[in-house]
Amino acid sequence: MNNKINVEQILKGSRVALAKAITLIESKKPSDRVLAQSLINKILPHSNKSIRIGISGSPGVGKSTFIEALGLQILSQGKKIAVLAVDPSSPVTGGSILGDKTRMEKLSRESDVFIRPSPSSGASGGVTQKSRETILLCEAAGFDVVIVETVGVGQNEVTVSNMVDFFLVMLLPNSGDELQGIKKGIIELADALIINKEDGDTIQAAQQTKSQYESALRLLTPHSFWKQKVLTCSALETKNIDITWQMICEFSKESKKNGFFQQRRAKQSKDWMWSLITDSIELKLKSHPELTTLIPQLEEMVIKETKTPQAAASEIIKKFF
Ligand code: GDP
Repeated sequence: MNNKINVEQILKGSRVALAKAITLIESKKPSDRVLAQSLINKILPHSNKSIRIGISGSPGVGKSTFIEALGLQILSQGKKIAVLAVDPSSPVTGGSILGDKTRMEKLSRESDVFIRPSPSSGASGGVTQKSRETILLCEAAGFDVVIVETVGVGQNEVTVSNMVDFFLVMLLPNSGDELQGIKKGIIELADALIINKEDGDTIQAAQQTKSQYESALRLLTPHSFWKQKVLTCSALETKNIDITWQMICEFSKESKKNGFFQQRRAKQSKDWMWSLITDSIELKLKSHPELTTLIPQLEEMVIKETKTPQAAASEIIKKFF
């Protein structure tokens, strides 16, 4: 990248400068990483001002329809919104299923909105790190609300819930039986659950599903001052979108007053620091000249059970340090 990034322009809210900066951050070239780090250091004092909202759900649940409706609601209050898609699980060459141009059509035409599709995954942990840096850039560029969207599969929810202030999980009517399975852990991460498509033939099902989740949540101990909420909405008919936004505002106000907001961000920063450390050590370890041949050999021995994982790990660590 030879284009100079203009920090002043980013701080003034130039979307061209912001887009350029994000491209720099997403670059895998080592020299760009150096420039990106220096850029982040410069914008850091100007970031941290937004409310970061995570939205997760299975494909087809209505995330983009919902974000469009919520986005227009927030815009009507004179706020600026950035929408970022994060898809850490997408295959390296598979392209992104999030944030493409045909989605959120009305929102993408608004001048106070910035929509950025998911970066393609690079080195391990790369997508997450880049997304965190992109959030900071959007905040420095004056966006009041940063929405981070992810597909509800695998580790994605855990990853995204750990970079936002408010984590919202979208569900379909009749999804109550998923409660028994993998969804349980995700529900514990959520600050609110929203059953979408409360319209047409699925009004009743949506309401029943809401009751099921409410009963399930009663059995959980709240992880903070905030009692997890369950709502129904219709993104298509913009029903209850205003209530959702009010809930987020209430959370933001209360959590800032009682210190939870700052505590959550502080914990996220600490976790981020450690994930950067472990990523960087792992990268160095795997490219260590003496280890590049030894590691595959030891892996093979562990697989064949001719060496215990403990013995193999300690051999690698002894060589490395
Ligand atoms: P995403 O994959 O989670 O982003 O889902 P989309 O927003 O693309 O929506 C998937 C499909 O569900 C589309 O055909 C939408 O029109 C439809 N949809 C989204 N929200 C609603 C809703 O509230 N009610 C109904 N009936 N359909 C919806």
